[in-house]
Amino acid sequence: MMIKLVIFIVAALVLYGLIRNKLLPSKKEPEQIDTTNMERDPICNTYVPEDTPHRLKYYDKMYFFCSQTCMDKFKAEKAKG
Ligand SMILES: [Zn+2]
Repeated sequence: MMIKLVIFIVAALVLYGLIRNKLLPSKKEPEQIDTTNMERDPICNTYVPEDTPHRLKYYDKMYFFCSQTCMDKFKAEKAKG
């Protein structure tokens, strides 16, 4: 008799756990990109953090790049004039 009760309680707890997991899914909201400390890469238009190592000062203006490739493209464009 007691065993049946224990099984019932365990089953209820498992069920409760399953339902709760379905109702309250683990937080997986789409990541919001915070652009407050971000600068736009002028080559590919993606936002890059200000502390990126790929940055360049050109005529007193700072330019930020997502990669060395974009930085090189920018330099090449400026060199062309
Ligand atoms: Zn880029």
